[in-house]
Amino acid sequence: MSYDDHNIFAKILRGEIPSQTVKETEHTLAFKDIAPQAPHHVLVIPKGAYVTADDFAANASEAEIVDFWRTFGDIVAELGVAADGYRIISNAGRDGLQEVPHYHLHILAGRSMGPMLLKTD
Ligand code: 5GP
Repeated sequence: MSYDDHNIFAKILRGEIPSQTVKETEHTLAFKDIAPQAPHHVLVIPKGAYVTADDFAANASEAEIVDFWRTFGDIVAELGVAADGYRIISNAGRDGLQEVPHYHLHILAGRSMGPMLLKTD
């Protein structure tokens, strides 16, 4: 699986297009989704060039993986949504309908998220 460094999140990481930063660490960037699906909709991405969750799991360093998940936990704490709950989603590839081919976690919170999936066939 090859990484396309023209994808929109690569451009955000390079500062070529703006984003609203929520948190930045050595290996991780979190920013607001441009089209929020919930009162809180944050995207968490590694700074490294990984396409999907499985690519990240297989190829990222332990430091990157720990940094990513600690950052995720810190954001949940800072949003103050742990008590009421939230949903995390990571779309991958064709069947996952991944739009941007740079690994990212959606954090959605602030309302009931409804059923886990809508049946489309
Ligand atoms: P995916 O379908 O790949 O899981 O989700 C990609 C997400 O990226 C979508 O929720 C979409 O709204 C968001 N997105 C696409 N382009 C931009 C952008 O330029 N800036 C930000 N902040 N979010 C974007």
